Amino acid sequence: MATIDGLPPLRDVIRQYDLVAKRQLGQNFLLDLNLTARIARSAGKLAECDVLEVGPGPGGLTRGLLAEGARRVVAVEKDARCIPALQDVAAAYPGRLTVIQGDALEIDTRALLSPPVRVIANLPYNVGTELLIRWLTPASWPPFWTSLTLMFQKEVAERIVARPRTEHYGRLALLAQWRTDARIVLTLPPEAFTPAPKVHSAVVQLTRLDTPRYPADEKVLMRITAQAFNQRRKMLRSSLKGLAPDLEDLLTSCGIPPTARAEEIGLEAFCALARAVKARGT
Ligand code: SAM
Repeated sequence: MATIDGLPPLRDVIRQYDLVAKRQLGQNFLLDLNLTARIARSAGKLAECDVLEVGPGPGGLTRGLLAEGARRVVAVEKDARCIPALQDVAAAYPGRLTVIQGDALEIDTRALLSPPVRVIANLPYNVGTELLIRWLTPASWPPFWTSLTLMFQKEVAERIVARPRTEHYGRLALLAQWRTDARIVLTLPPEAFTPAPKVHSAVVQLTRLDTPRYPADEKVLMRITAQAFNQRRKMLRSSLKGLAPDLEDLLTSCGIPPTARAEEIGLEAFCALARAVKARGT
């Protein structure tokens, strides 16, 4: 059967290179090239961009990114079995695909990428959240990327875009929404993948803000939100004990009722609290 790029269908590629999915590598492959092209398009214009892809696997999303016109794709794959299949894709798009075999948690690809850079990936579930947190907390802001377009388990995607007073609201939402505009652009049922995972998935688009939405010291903000959400159902006057001797006055001065719970407090108020704590040097 003909494909959009003249390369073999992904089922044939998987058969040719014997790419039996390994659960410990989070391998749930997308085999529908129309779908991978759609995910690539959901990231916005690619023509003028370099793309970092983590976990290309047999190359379905990689082919979507290249067919949609990405200037260059740097793809980091841990599973050595996938490399020959990816080299076939590189040969079909001369000079536009660099394949690196290794662990994305250990490899720094920034020197290979020219701005503007988009990160686009169907992430392995076991390392997805860790990579997201790393991309959101670089040594300095703005980061090397302009947008992240990432597939997660739907529940993780909901934690990224959650609003106060909802079930999934917590530290991940605060961190993501402090530094990016984050929204879910696509949800996919288990059957979209081979093998099918147990849960639904969703693609989240995070577009960086040049400066964080409200001023705050990252370390102080992270410390306060960790403490507050560690006991998310407790009142802040109790969960934040130890933050300041006059905690209730401090909270009130930031517009936060001491009897409120972490899940009721928005990003702006947490940032105000982080500034007040930082100003006191505590
Ligand atoms: N992009 C492909 C697709 O959409 O069909 C595969 C996605 S699959 C969910 C995740 C991929 O990430 C697998 O190919 C797996 O081998 C790879 N992977 C897992 N852990 C990794 C790591 N630490 N660094 C790089 N790749 C990893």
